[in-house]
Amino acid sequence: MVLDTATLRIAFGLMALVLVFLFYFSAYRVTRSPYSGWWCLALLFFLSGSACFLLDGTAHQVWANPLGNVLLVHGGVAVWAGARSLRTVPPPKWAFTGIPLATLVASVLDDPATNTWSGGPVFLAAMSLTIGLASRELWRLEPGYSRVRIPMAVAAGGLSVFYLLRWVAFMLEGQHGPVFQSVFGSAVTTLVTMVLLVVVSFSMAALSSEQQTRALRVVASRDDLTGLLNRKAFLEMAAEQLADLSITKGSGALVLADLDHFKSVNDTYGHAAGDLALQTFADACIATVRPTDLVGRYGGEEFVILVPGASAERAELIAESISNRLAAATTADGMEMPTASYGISTYDGASTDVERLIASADAALYMAKSLGRNQTARSDRLR
Ligand code: GH3
Ligand code: MG
Ligand code: MG
Repeated sequence: MVLDTATLRIAFGLMALVLVFLFYFSAYRVTRSPYSGWWCLALLFFLSGSACFLLDGTAHQVWANPLGNVLLVHGGVAVWAGARSLRTVPPPKWAFTGIPLATLVASVLDDPATNTWSGGPVFLAAMSLTIGLASRELWRLEPGYSRVRIPMAVAAGGLSVFYLLRWVAFMLEGQHGPVFQSVFGSAVTTLVTMVLLVVVSFSMAALSSEQQTRALRVVASRDDLTGLLNRKAFLEMAAEQLADLSITKGSGALVLADLDHFKSVNDTYGHAAGDLALQTFADACIATVRPTDLVGRYGGEEFVILVPGASAERAELIAESISNRLAAATTADGMEMPTASYGISTYDGASTDVERLIASADAALYMAKSLGRNQTARSDRLR
């Protein structure tokens, strides 16, 4: 073998150390995301485990060899835990105790003083299992999760298969067999692992920044008080939906709502009570429409809802249902919830303009206000 294992292990150790530092400072310290924490931990396990094997052939091998196995297996478990944290499911507890413990027992009982492959079959199986489970977690994430989901899943899957093949070779011909020595030996493993650590670290860093961007976008699109879409985000998303005729074949309704005599709520009960009424109205909207409908806070006490696929009649029912929920909401110290007025406009067919839809609904809303408030008017019934 042209590549000697000890040199490779040192190179591997250095690389893992650099990755830990880079990853800790660039990803973990910035995002504090669980998966980047797990990945730092996994790198440390791989680093320390692999360092233990440098003591093979010395008097320390008797403890260093089993310890190395256990540390590497812990690394595998940490990779699995990190992959699970992307779905926000904690790893099962037995993974941290059971799998490393089985590896430790197998190694200790297998002449670790003289046998550099003490507990080999259990160790190889544990690595294949934990990293394979990590790969499965990554595949199970929804396809839109991240563009680096596939490279990470492939890297983990590849490494798992590699360990599985090593295990097969070990079982068939033992640690001195020609195939195990050449194709699946420690030198090749170290090289393969090095490449995959780089792939995964790079992907994880990309994932961190993707998630940060996504979080910022969510913050930028939400109204602070109600959590609804703000005006800008509503207009953008509504324009997108209206342009996409595949959504309910291009017809639907828009509802513009305005709380009645809201100024007097503030004047009578105070601004905080007014805020609470706004939040209650927002909750009533969310509870009434489907999750795919768009609900936005259009202005101070004005709200807007886009309901693709809905008729004007369906939109009237939605308005009624929101008002019923608002009236039923419990309030502190006898405060009365305001009523609301609604204007409805509908669209049908190609290239509908949001602004125009809102203008029509606004005209209907004005009608509802002038007819005495606490009611709904439709733009198609305006005279
Ligand atoms: P109308 O029935 O004609 O709609 O009467 P109105 O009093 O609701 O209408 P107007 O537009 O005169 O008053 C809206 C009030 O909403 C004025 C403003 O102080 C209040 N407002 C706007 N944004 C907020 C907010 O975030 N919190 C609170 N508490 N009040 C707000
Ligand atoms: Mg208003
Ligand atoms: Mg109002």
